[in-house]
Amino acid sequence: MTRAREEIVALDKRYVWHPYTQMERYIEQADPFVIDRAAGARIWDKSGRSYIDANASWWVAALGHGHPRLVEALTEQARTLAHVALAGTTHEPAALLAEALVARAPRGLTRVFYSDDGSTALEAAIKMALGYQRRRGRPERTRFVSLQGAFHGETLGVTALGGVEVFRRPYAGVLMDVVFVEPPPFGDEIGEVASSALARVLDEHQDGVAAVVLEPILQGAEGMKIYTPAFLRSARQACDRHDILFVADEVFTGYGRTGPFWAVDHAGVSPDILATAKGFSGGMLPMAATLASDRVFEAFFGPADAAFYYGHSFCGNPLGARVALEVLRVFDDERVLEGIELRAKKIADAFAALGRVEGCRDARAIGMVGAVDLGSGGYLGAAGWRAHEKARELGAYLRPLGDTVYVAPPLNIPLPDLEELLQIVGESVRSALG
Ligand SMILES: *Cc1c(COP(=O)(O)O)cnc(C)c1O
Repeated sequence: MTRAREEIVALDKRYVWHPYTQMERYIEQADPFVIDRAAGARIWDKSGRSYIDANASWWVAALGHGHPRLVEALTEQARTLAHVALAGTTHEPAALLAEALVARAPRGLTRVFYSDDGSTALEAAIKMALGYQRRRGRPERTRFVSLQGAFHGETLGVTALGGVEVFRRPYAGVLMDVVFVEPPPFGDEIGEVASSALARVLDEHQDGVAAVVLEPILQGAEGMKIYTPAFLRSARQACDRHDILFVADEVFTGYGRTGPFWAVDHAGVSPDILATAKGFSGGMLPMAATLASDRVFEAFFGPADAAFYYGHSFCGNPLGARVALEVLRVFDDERVLEGIELRAKKIADAFAALGRVEGCRDARAIGMVGAVDLGSGGYLGAAGWRAHEKARELGAYLRPLGDTVYVAPPLNIPLPDLEELLQIVGESVRSALG
């Protein structure tokens, strides 16, 4: 690929529609990064300048860019079998990956359903929950309970479960009816008010609710909001009282992002259904999985029309499955989780220091995520974008969530890169406020 930067930008502005972007302003004003290549925690632009990828490219590059073992696995698989339908056929990558995933999964999750990305993993989860209740003779249980500030993806089904107001508003008129519950506020370790509110909702609506769906511990898209594990334990109990399913969306939090392999591990609870994507395929290609318990799986046994009628063209794609299997092997061989501890401490210390800067609010950190709010504008706020501009000058790609500046770098980011990144974040935040 050898075209000049100006030509690429011109074609991009002429033809490409970017996600989550006001295109009118973008076409007039934006000076986008034009990225040529990436390796480890860095991305390089056309001029040969490198930037530290502070958000692991929208949270997917868990093992950094271009990990040699993932590249090798992908290349070899591409030469052998790139795709075959998973219908009346199976293949080694899908079978071995399912075995390895179940071995890693929270207790009781024994079955693996493949799809393409986080949204479809959640879409499959909510359809499983509806099917489960119907098969158990309770077809009236069609509603979901989710959390204020939740983000579960982009399809219309899971958009309904989303509690980030800006993303939800344009579709409000056509979305499923969902009951939203407030998660415990940051710093409330007991979470009693939120827990009782959730229990009350489930007691009241039990006959109409199929499942509770939540991002355990850390709500990403809402602005890296952290809540106490105690809330997960009481949610699990409240679901059990009424045979309401507990669905954990680990698309962002899974694979060590918050420290342990799964965020539900902070609370020692097992969901009935768990969705994983993003880091699942190491940021290499789109691939996702929805894990289910025997109880959920077996509810679909019986006559032909009881089957789970759901499946995407690329379900169980061998390239994705082979890479996802290699991701798990790299986690073991390179002791990725063990390496998080030291890095997490550096992130926590750096954000604690930012918390003492005037104008910074709610500095917080968990595992490989650190965040701070520079204003109260939320997702449409501008302060985070000033930090983004400064970070670009200093050599980091620090895309904010509006007024929230955060880092969620590759889990194995080299220590010198992490130190440089945290330095740049500090300087960029101070500059954005000054
Ligand atoms: C990103 C995300 C999704 C959606 O995943 P896509 O791969 O973007 O479809 C769902 N849930 C959570 C918690 C996410 O962070």
